[in-house]
Formats: sequence, C-alpha cells, structure tokens
Amino acid sequence: TYVVTDACIRCKYMDCVEVCPVDCFYEGENMLVINPNECIDCGVCEPECPAEAILPDTENGLEKWLELNRTYSEQW
Ligand code: SF4
Repeated sequence: TYVVTDACIRCKYMDCVEVCPVDCFYEGENMLVINPNECIDCGVCEPECPAEAILPDTENGLEKWLELNRTYSEQW
C-alpha cells in the first residue's frame, strides 16, 4: 500500500484523490489518508502529490504513518 505522510498536513490539494482508480483516499483530521485495505498499489498518486507526501510503505520508518492512515480511513 501507499501511505500519506506529514507533508500532507494542511495541504489537501486533492490531486491524488482525482487520479486514484479505486477512490481509496479519505479525509483525516488535518490531512488526507489512504485506506491500506483498498489501495491496489498502482502508484499513480505518488508523482501527483505536490507536497511529495505519498510514499510506498516499503520505505523505512513509515509504520506510524501507515497506522494513522489505517485508523483515519476506517472511521468512515
Ligand atoms: Fe490509489 Fe493507486 Fe495511490 Fe493506492 S497507489 S492510493 S490505489 S492511486
């Protein structure tokens, strides 16, 4: 899955939301999040993000952000 990280806070450009083929972006408290159960790992959102806030969860140190994306996206 891909995860949204802190660079998104108060950004909300929504470019990523428009390109996601499975509509798995949700609104968190002050940032957007990706539902890890719905993300199909296509990667098209990553280059669309003007804040470079979207990263694949295979990168190191993203456990906390993955958890936060899961928590916020499952509230809906
Ligand atoms: Fe959506 Fe693809 Fe980005 Fe996952 S990687 S959030 S499916 S655009």
